[in-house]
Amino acid sequence: MDVKKIGVVGAGTMGNGIAHVAAMNGYDVVMVDVKDELLERAFATITKNLDRMVKKEKITEADKQAALEKIRPSTELKELADCDIVIEAVTEDLSIKLDVFRQMDSICKQDAILASNTSSISITQLAAVTGRPEMVIGMHFMNPVPVMKLVEIVKGLQTSDSTYKIVHDLAEKLGKTPVLVNDYPGFISNRVLMPMINEACWALMQGVATKEAIDTVMKLGMAHPMGPFELADLIGLDVCLAIMEVLYEGFSDSKYRPCPLLRNMVKAGYLGRKTKRGFYTYE
Ligand code: NAD
Repeated sequence: MDVKKIGVVGAGTMGNGIAHVAAMNGYDVVMVDVKDELLERAFATITKNLDRMVKKEKITEADKQAALEKIRPSTELKELADCDIVIEAVTEDLSIKLDVFRQMDSICKQDAILASNTSSISITQLAAVTGRPEMVIGMHFMNPVPVMKLVEIVKGLQTSDSTYKIVHDLAEKLGKTPVLVNDYPGFISNRVLMPMINEACWALMQGVATKEAIDTVMKLGMAHPMGPFELADLIGLDVCLAIMEVLYEGFSDSKYRPCPLLRNMVKAGYLGRKTKRGFYTYE
């Protein structure tokens, strides 16, 4: 199948980034969210990000206009009916995603691929509520989408090789580097990253070193661009905790148990940069 038209459901942080990248690469895009003001906000974000690229002379003003014209906003899922692939990027909530997948399955044309940008929900479980599980796949972009090169392509238990091939090729056409992973909790990115952040929390809680010292060890000793606490503050401590819970439950293995300090931080509302206080404070 030759993908020409891409649907994006959810126009938040990730959805507007995916729409931006798809439009910049010449695809027609239908971008769906639940309210007009959310779509307007997404458009404003895309415009601002494209303006930055014009300023850096990476694209011309004409390229920017052409990309914006490629994106059609809508509050109606039925507008996705003629898309070749739909990438779901709605709120990370199982019941919302299951509902969106059921609706997409009934609305989208028979040979359309249904992809999810989920960070932690099982692709196999999303596929199971559709009548086309072999055409359901994970397409896990990284934040910020226009900048980050990686896309984890997640094969569910029933995903076909032909679906994988189309999505792999699409990711490359979007200028990304696709990496194949199978559908197990946390895929690869979060399965490796989150236990590292969680272990840093245990070390801090046990008084092994200060947060600044732990961040410095990882930056200068391991060449990480950010320390684990700086990164956790950026991601959101609530998001880190939720993903640790997914790993803990998904594998039923105590090695993934969330650190009590991380739980306490979330209980206190210290969620990181977004609340101006996490492990560090932000003005
Ligand atoms: P977000 O909260 O910024 O955006 C989610 C959007 O989905 C909102 O605009 C919301 O209105 C919309 N939405 C909710 N229900 C909907 C429905 N029924 N129909 C249409 N739109 C609906 O969230 P986000 O950070 O963009 O995350 C989206 C997905 O991407 C999640 O699955 C998340 O796990 C994943 N993800 C996030 C990141 C990240 O760093 N933020 C990175 C990788 C993957």
